[in-house]
Amino acid sequence: MAFGIKKKKIQDILPHRTLTDPEELFCYGFDASSSEGRPLAVVKPVNASEVGQLAAFAHEHAISIVPRGAGTGMTGGAVPMKDVVVLSMEAMNRILEIDQHDMVAVVEPGVMNGYLQEKLEEKGLFYPPDPASMKFCTLGGNVAENAGGPRAIKYGVTRDYVLGLESVLSDGRILTTGGKTYKGVVGYDLTRLMVGSEGTLGIITKIILKVLPLPEEVATLLCTFTSMDDAARTVSKITSASIIPRTLEMMDRESIHAVEKYKAFGLPMDAEALLLIEVDGPVETVSKESERIASLCTSCNGSVRIAEDRYSKERLWEARRAISPALYKISPTKINEDIVVPRGSVPEMFGKLREISEKYDLPIPSFGHVGDGNIHVNVMTDKNNPDEYQRALDSIKEIFEATIRLGGTISGEHGVGITKKQYIGMDLDDTNIEIMKAVKNVFDPKGILNPGKIFP
Ligand SMILES: Cc1cc2nc3c(=O)[nH]c(=O)nc-3n(C[C@H](O)[C@H](O)[C@H](O)COP(=O)(O)OP(=O)(O)OC[C@H]3O[C@@H](n4cnc5c(N)ncnc54)[C@H](O)[C@@H]3O)c2cc1C
Repeated sequence: MAFGIKKKKIQDILPHRTLTDPEELFCYGFDASSSEGRPLAVVKPVNASEVGQLAAFAHEHAISIVPRGAGTGMTGGAVPMKDVVVLSMEAMNRILEIDQHDMVAVVEPGVMNGYLQEKLEEKGLFYPPDPASMKFCTLGGNVAENAGGPRAIKYGVTRDYVLGLESVLSDGRILTTGGKTYKGVVGYDLTRLMVGSEGTLGIITKIILKVLPLPEEVATLLCTFTSMDDAARTVSKITSASIIPRTLEMMDRESIHAVEKYKAFGLPMDAEALLLIEVDGPVETVSKESERIASLCTSCNGSVRIAEDRYSKERLWEARRAISPALYKISPTKINEDIVVPRGSVPEMFGKLREISEKYDLPIPSFGHVGDGNIHVNVMTDKNNPDEYQRALDSIKEIFEATIRLGGTISGEHGVGITKKQYIGMDLDDTNIEIMKAVKNVFDPKGILNPGKIFP
């Protein structure tokens, strides 16, 4: 079917929900990576049945579709390749149920993570996964990427909270997996298979999430160090001290300076590194654990400040969440990776990053969830300077090699998408890749769901 006819037919299915103006299509052509495309059309369905109609039509006429949440993905997952229809889930944005007896929340995929957190807190409930983008990313995108966040060190990632899903398959059939129960072992775990599948196996239309009681108390500590080695030593001491903090985040000197240039948060400019640590639980436990952590920090030459009220806590987190946009103060192009190494190898990895930064003569500010070994590594460069950009790409390869050598993995939470697909062979062996491709083929035999992603 010719390009124009495909567009017309798609429009005929849901005319009031389809965008085809070039200006509107432009807005759906990119995400938070530097990848870009232009969709054939954008459709905004409001329920699973509409998604099913579209998928069935696309399947029959071999038209590719890309599910999209809020487009905050870091690896190009929601970016349309050629001749693709974007299925934006933004209109499916209702919280369907918060059930305090079953301790579950049932949501549509377009609900913002931060909005659900707020609504749960009003009822004394808690949904731990907290990507730094939580105020502007969707839960559908979180499930599709298996998003994590600072609280993963204690509470795990999105996968650990998804009890059930409703997904539309590539031919329009609806697949319901799991449910409201906390257990269930009948057959293969298709719910878990869908989590992290980056929109390549199905379009998620309903999500059942496990929720927890809101912790009674949270303490937030800012620990400042004049040496990165001291900060790294503190991380090892805390993680081996039988305390599980709810966050253990690190910012290096370059990240601190970029954030302060972006907005004056009052972070210590003379620090080489800082740790943002939280503990939560019953008041007494929180008080004991925060004292213990403070003393571990001071024993490693750190100085400690405890945030006294909700405003100071929120301001520290605002500074932490500002790092990603702030880094553009250093250079116009950011190649962002989210490697993970075993926790004990974090100090060695930071040393390796310093060496690579010097070797390639490029700033590599690094920060992130060091408590679980997940480091956000940002190679700062300028895409319009071919020589420098090539050096940046070479440095990425070396960073990945060092990560794998230390027993780590090239992505902890951002997924593969477009930007990492050329590297998956460094992380996965042939048998893994063969089985994954076979699974993809069962779910999507015509290859119309989010083509060009994950596999090179
Ligand atoms: C400033 C900033 C900070 C960030 N911090 C973190 C962080 O701390 N932790 C973290 O994990 N990530 C982080 N991210 C990355 C990003 O926010 C997450 O990957 C998030 O889960 C993407 O959600 P989204 O709604 O924007 O999805 P999109 O970017 O729109 O899509 C992401 C992928 O999910 C698929 N998808 C979306 N909706 C559906 C659906 N309903 N069904 C099937 N597939 C779907 C898309 O096809 C695509 O492959 C950050 C991003 C930014 C910009």
